[in-house]
Amino acid sequence: MENCIFCRIVRGEIPSRKVYEDDEVFAFHDINPLRPVHILVIPKRHISSLAEVGADDAPTLGHLLVVARRLAAENGSPDGFRLVINTGRIGQQEVQHLHAHIIGGSAPVGPML
Ligand code: 5GP
Ligand code: ZN
Repeated sequence: MENCIFCRIVRGEIPSRKVYEDDEVFAFHDINPLRPVHILVIPKRHISSLAEVGADDAPTLGHLLVVARRLAAENGSPDGFRLVINTGRIGQQEVQHLHAHIIGGSAPVGPML
């Protein structure tokens, strides 16, 4: 996707603080962290939203979850964290490229983002 901000981050056209990258997923620090640990994990392939996924996306999404667990542990949330995928208008999804927020760290995590 030419103008998708997260596709542009994956391509290196927009700078980000990269945490991890492999063939399928890319992880980087959120530009506006809500907690000490706030990392976004995204599929490299453009998927606009969790509302758009199908069976073909299952391997990528499963891999994303396994990566998220490891990154949370390695980046300061060994005792637990929240994984949030905002979806669609009601879900207040602002960036239309599927992303999972890893939210945690030392401060308590409130009931809502
Ligand atoms: P959403 O509401 O769509 O689930 O959250 C989008 C997230 O992307 C927000 O937490 C926002 O701070 C983050 N974000 C938006 N633009 C950028 C950017 O250019 N770089 C980084 N690192 N994060 C971004
Ligand atoms: Zn995209």
